[in-house]
Amino acid sequence: GGNAHLMFNAHMAAEAHDNLYLESEIRHGLEQSQFTLYLQPKVNMDGMTKGFESLVRWDHPERGIISPAEFIPAMESMGFISQLDNWILEASFRQLKVLEPHHPEIVISVNISSTHFTKHSFLVFLNECLQKYPINPNRLELEITETLLMENMNEGREVINTIKQMGVRIAIDDFGTGYSSLSYLKNLPVDTLKIDRVFIKDIPDSESDKQISSVIIFLAKQLNFTVVAEGVETLAQLNFLKDNHCDQAQGFYFSKPIASHKAIIMLESERIN
Ligand code: C2E
Ligand code: CA
Ligand code: CA
Ligand code: CA
Repeated sequence: GGNAHLMFNAHMAAEAHDNLYLESEIRHGLEQSQFTLYLQPKVNMDGMTKGFESLVRWDHPERGIISPAEFIPAMESMGFISQLDNWILEASFRQLKVLEPHHPEIVISVNISSTHFTKHSFLVFLNECLQKYPINPNRLELEITETLLMENMNEGREVINTIKQMGVRIAIDDFGTGYSSLSYLKNLPVDTLKIDRVFIKDIPDSESDKQISSVIIFLAKQLNFTVVAEGVETLAQLNFLKDNHCDQAQGFYFSKPIASHKAIIMLESERIN
C-alpha cells in the first residue's frame, strides 16, 4: 500500500545517506592516515614465527578500532580499495626493512583485493616499491582468493606469472571456500595454500572437517606448496595439524593481530627464549 511505499522510500533514502556518509568518512580517513597496519604471526609446527600477515585496521577518532569486515566491501564497491591496498603494501615493505635485520627469513603476506590485483597500475606500484625498498622480493607474499582466479583465469594467470618473474611469492587465500576446479593449481606458479578457518574451527569434533583438512594438506604437499592453516585457536587443532604435516599455522592460539611496532618485540623475545 501507500504506506509501505513511503516507508520503502524513506528506508532507501536513509541507506543512500548512510553510504554517502561512509564514503566521505572513508575519504577523510584515507587523507588523515587513520588506517593502520596490524600483523598476525604465522608459525611453524614448533611455534616459531616464520612470517606475518598484514591486516588493516581503521583507527577511527570516535569509533575506535574498526575491523576490515566492516569497511572492505564498501571500499571495493566505492573504488577506494586500490588506494588502501597500496598503502598497506608500502607499509609492509617498510616493516620488512625493519624486521629483516632481526629475522632475515621473515615473510610478510599482504592481502590484495581481486578488483585491484589485475589492474596494470597495481603492477606498476609493486615494481616501484621493489625499487624503493631494497629487500629480497622473496620476503614478500601476496594473498589472493581463488574467486579471482575462477572469475578471470587467463588474466589472473598472466598477472601471477608477471609477479613471479619479479620474485614475489603468491598465496591462495581461503582455499576450499570457492567453487574451484582443482586443475588450476597445477598450472599456476603458486607458493602457498591457506586452508580457510571454516575447515579448522570444528576440529577435532568434526570428522568431515578433519578429513577435508588432511586431504588439502596432502594435496598441497604433493604439489610442493607451503600449506598454512588459518584460525587455529586450540592445542587440539595444532596437534591435528602437526600429525598431518601441515607447515604453518596462524590463529588466536598463537597471537591475535598486533600493532606493527610490536612485531619486533615479539621476534626478539622468541630469539632469547
Ligand atoms: P583473511 O585474509 O581471511 O584474514 C584472516 C582473518 O581471520 C583476519 O580477520 C584475522 O584477524 C582473523 N583471524 C586470525 N586468526 C583467527 C582465529 O584464530 N580465530 C578467528 N575467529 N579469527 C581469526 P580480519 O583482520 O578482521 O580481516 C578480515 C578480512 O578482511 C581478511 O580475511 C581479508 O579478506 C580482509 N582484509 C584485511 N586486511 C586487508 C587489506 O589490507 N586489503 C584487503 N584487500 N583485504 C584485507
Ligand atoms: Ca588473507
Ligand atoms: Ca584467509
Ligand atoms: Ca577469510
